[in-house]
Amino acid sequence: MVTAVMPTYGRIDIAFERGKGAYLYSTNGEKYLDFATGIATNSLGHAHPHLVKKLQEQAGKLWHVSNLYNIPEQQRFADRLVSHSFADTVFFCNSGAEAMEGALKVARKYHFANGNPEREQVICATGSFHGRTLTTLSAGDNDKYREGFGPRPGGFEHVAFGNLNEMRAAISEKTAAILVEPIQGEGGINPATAEYLQELRKVADEFDALLIFDEVQCGMARSGSLFAYSQADTEPDIMGLAKGIGGGFPVGAVLASEKAAIGMVPGTHGSTYGGNPLAMAAANAVLDVMLEPGFIESVIEKGVYLRKGLNKLSKDHPAVIESIRGTGLMMGLKCLGPNLELMTAFRDQKLLTVVAGDNVLRILPPLNVKIDELDEAIDIMDKVCKTMSS
Ligand SMILES: *Cc1c(COP(=O)(O)O)cnc(C)c1O
Repeated sequence: MVTAVMPTYGRIDIAFERGKGAYLYSTNGEKYLDFATGIATNSLGHAHPHLVKKLQEQAGKLWHVSNLYNIPEQQRFADRLVSHSFADTVFFCNSGAEAMEGALKVARKYHFANGNPEREQVICATGSFHGRTLTTLSAGDNDKYREGFGPRPGGFEHVAFGNLNEMRAAISEKTAAILVEPIQGEGGINPATAEYLQELRKVADEFDALLIFDEVQCGMARSGSLFAYSQADTEPDIMGLAKGIGGGFPVGAVLASEKAAIGMVPGTHGSTYGGNPLAMAAANAVLDVMLEPGFIESVIEKGVYLRKGLNKLSKDHPAVIESIRGTGLMMGLKCLGPNLELMTAFRDQKLLTVVAGDNVLRILPPLNVKIDELDEAIDIMDKVCKTMSS
């Protein structure tokens, strides 16, 4: 008999009842160090006092009103995103897939509004992940996720991630946009080079195609800058955000330049919950913390510290870990044995991590993790790797 919760996930048999900072406490009284963070979503750990306070204040005042009315909290959050990014305008939704759907709609509407309705093709990258809706499955590159869900929404084409020649060969007068993750997450923590992202910008400009970055996972300070693209010294026309933006509250956002958003006039897009007062209270509170002087610097500092520890780990256990990948606090261990086995062994020692493609294990601590918590995690990893290589 089917379970009451539709069995779409392979679940691990643990339930958590509370969290504090980088730690989670299970219903059977065990304490775990959480370096999975709900897949890069609990960006400030669990029960952060400022987030709790702001959400509680808002919960007593107003949860939801329709986007038929002005929502001051939403306007404030949009203003702040605009002033700290390339964007001139923001649409709010509730998840990463919804953000990427919105990003694709903005790109196609741009060409339609400019009198080029035939420009609807989007060039995407191998190894990419953009969500689980029908259209974002088409944009992503995972046949297993698509199987049985046809017909597949059209208008997508894939070229090798990082390969400029393939991108140049694929682009045409039918191209609406180029879509990539500056750091691929699900695909296995693969950072694009700065040069690749800069060249994509040039190719897009040459063909009047739009450049879309999916920063659903690598955005919101995860990479060591508020947005990963800024490290490449370039800018997209459209960007999707979600995961870390609400600190665990479901929030998604589509950011766009004024030029790219030309077609998005009243009536062209919508989301009932998108940007409601409760969600915006959470998102504004997350941003309060991330914009505090020194916060980003501390993410960089701890990223460097973690990388050092992981490099040593990989050197000390060459039979378990092949290499280290990532930037900031978005790190991956390329495993020699099955990544699932290493994740399970870490979990048995009370350290939570999360698998990715390409046999990589993701290490995603909260961005406000403490140095001694990083030490604790590396210590657990070292002990586990020792038993695995012996
Ligand atoms: C997780 C993720 C998504 C999808 O986000 P959901 O909130 O699960 O819909 C899209 N793109 C990237 C890069 C992601 O990591």
